[in-house]
Amino acid sequence: LSNNLLADKTIFDITKFTTLDFPNNPACILWFSKCNMACLYCYNSQIVRGEGKYTNREILDFLHTRIGKLNGVVLSGGECTLYPHLIELCEEIKELGFKIKVDTNGLKPDVIKDLIEYSLVDYIALDYKAPPSKFTQITKATSNEKFYKTLDFLIDKDFRFEVRTTVHSDLLQNADINAIILDLKNRKYKGIYYLQNFLQVEDTLGNITTPSIRLDKNLLEPSIPIEIRN
Ligand code: SF4
Repeated sequence: LSNNLLADKTIFDITKFTTLDFPNNPACILWFSKCNMACLYCYNSQIVRGEGKYTNREILDFLHTRIGKLNGVVLSGGECTLYPHLIELCEEIKELGFKIKVDTNGLKPDVIKDLIEYSLVDYIALDYKAPPSKFTQITKATSNEKFYKTLDFLIDKDFRFEVRTTVHSDLLQNADINAIILDLKNRKYKGIYYLQNFLQVEDTLGNITTPSIRLDKNLLEPSIPIEIRN
């Protein structure tokens, strides 16, 4: 990276070790600041609204110390695809020998395409936030068109990725989840659809409270494989 890019501060925080976030790979997580959504249940408000704290040089220095100890690096946030020099940063991370997982809301299909084209990503977790009727209400993003572009691109490419949804029962009901399941089936998504219950934390972007009901798998469409993560 050029000296300018090494001085860029876009990462808000680092989780130094996780075995939960990158399937089969002990990894660290880089939390990118900023997001192009403002989901009501988002509990990363400090990350979404805050500024980066670590320079790319500090990040790469840290990763140097993890060579041989970790397999992977998870790019999460916030929304990492907003960083204009993500490609260059991923090239550096790859040079150090790490696999890369990208967590994304899917609103930047061109960035996802580039990452795949340049072999800079090994696994993607794509958030399917809501069916069309609730997309804007929950995410505050005006259009879901780019999300579907990303989803269809990943399905067409047969890339290794997962689709997942965080469910808060006041925001998404069984009918909404079933609409997502049928849509994934129609688009020929082949992977497991992961659902996670919203867990109450303070300080969500939409100041929402504890959900009244937890997900009941028995009430969901059985047409694609589903896993509830918590
Ligand atoms: S939950 Fe929504 S607002 Fe929060 S980081 Fe993810 S996409 Fe952005």
